[in-house]
Parts: sequence; C-alpha cells; structure tokens
Amino acid sequence: MTTMTLSQTQTWVVAPTLTPTDWLPATLKSINDYLAGGSPEEILRWGVETFAPDLALATGFGPEGVVLLHLISHIAPETTIFYLDTDLLFPETYALRDELEARLGIKFTRVHSGLSLEAQAAEHGPELWARDPNLCCYLRKVEPLRKFLATKRAWVTGIRRDQTRQRANTGLVEWDLPNGLVKLNPLAAWINDQVWEHIRAHDLPFNKLHRQGYPSIGCWPCTRAVAPGEDPRAGRWAAFDKTECGIHLPTDAIVVPTEKVHG
Ligand code: SF4
Repeated sequence: MTTMTLSQTQTWVVAPTLTPTDWLPATLKSINDYLAGGSPEEILRWGVETFAPDLALATGFGPEGVVLLHLISHIAPETTIFYLDTDLLFPETYALRDELEARLGIKFTRVHSGLSLEAQAAEHGPELWARDPNLCCYLRKVEPLRKFLATKRAWVTGIRRDQTRQRANTGLVEWDLPNGLVKLNPLAAWINDQVWEHIRAHDLPFNKLHRQGYPSIGCWPCTRAVAPGEDPRAGRWAAFDKTECGIHLPTDAIVVPTEKVHG
C-alpha cells in the first residue's frame, strides 16, 4: 500500500457540531480521497484529531480489532474503547479482552443491553438466536450500540471491504445514518494478510480459536468452525441466510426485527 504523510497535504476543518448536512456525499468523497493514501495509523490519527473526545473505538476482538487497539494504544490510549457484551461471547474472547488490557495498557468499556438472557427468554422464548437471530442481534447488539453512540460524534470500526459482499463499498469515512454520526473504517482497504502481518510483526495476542478453525468469531451459539477452503465467514449464522448482525449494514439493507422488540 502506498502511504503518504497526511499532514503534508490539505488540512480538513470539521465543524465542532456535526449534522447530517455536514456530510453530504460530495464532502465525504473529498475526505475519502484525502485519506485514501494514508496508512490506517494516519487515518486513525486524523479521526482522533478531528473528533476526540467524542470518538469511540469499537471492537469485537477479531484480528482487525487487535490491530486497531494496538494503533490507538500509541496514538491516544485515553480514547473510549468499547465492546458489545451479549453475554454469549466465547470464554476465549473474554480471555483475550483481559490479555489486551494488560498488554496494551488500555481500558474497555462494556456496552450491554441491560436485558439478561433469562429476561430475553421469558419475553421471547428460549434460545432466540436459534429461531430469530435478527431479533436477537437487534436486542443484544444493534439497539445497545445505538444508545451508546448517541453521545458521540464519530466511531471507529475494523471492517474491511473484502470481508462480505455488503462491505465491498465501505468508505474510510462514512455517515452512519441509523446511528446519526460519522463512522471511520481505517482498515477498509486492507486485506486479511495485511492484518495478520501487523499482528505477527508486533507479536500481538489474538483469539486462540483462530488456530482451531474459527477465522471469524462472534457469539458462541452463532459461530462454528469452518473447513479448509470454506468462506471465512461461513461459520457465522451457518443455519441462516444471514451474514451480518446489523450494526454494519448499509442503510438500504438494515435488518428489521420480525416481531416487536423489547421496550
Ligand atoms: S450473534 Fe447470535 S447470540 Fe449473538 S446477538 Fe446475534 S443472534 Fe444473538
């Protein structure tokens, strides 16, 4: 990837209070063109300089998250870093969370729905994920995320264009219409090999399940190992025609829950 020093080019001045009209397509295109030659570190630094302290970095503890956490720990370790705790993450994922905190000197904010698994079962029936994963994801991920981001101006994610069909047009900077803030995707242009090269080069920890056939890891009821040669995300919601939990879908493809959601 060709890199350049962004500070040697044009400087963007972003209004302190952002509204959707500040992020018209032409503005977004200009900013994306400006950032396109930058490394993920430079793009992340631009995000911190533009939006901090109203910036939050999200992670699901995948390899992309490990890269972003490593970068932010050098750029601005005081940044709000959060994860969505569905109560259904693998023990190996919680162990990685603790290892990353100790190794990188960062602190995670736990974002939770406030809905226990017992309360969810009482209201929607047992094992909702096995019957209506869109509703389960909405309750445990999409809605808690929306509430958490309500006080922020921008958030950072680790999504990459080559992960899924829906992510193919991911911009480095986007207007996140459902959540009403800017979304920064510093790794959008990276491929899987670049992520792992960074992890190896810096000897960073990663989820032990990656060595056991799990290239993509979410909640344990909705994740299985994949066979060699299988699509890396084939193990996510394998029994359903579903590839996204709903927090990264383009605005024209938002998953609508199939029944009334919890108040
Ligand atoms: S990934 Fe599965 S268990 Fe986790 S919130 Fe979505 S449907 Fe529920």
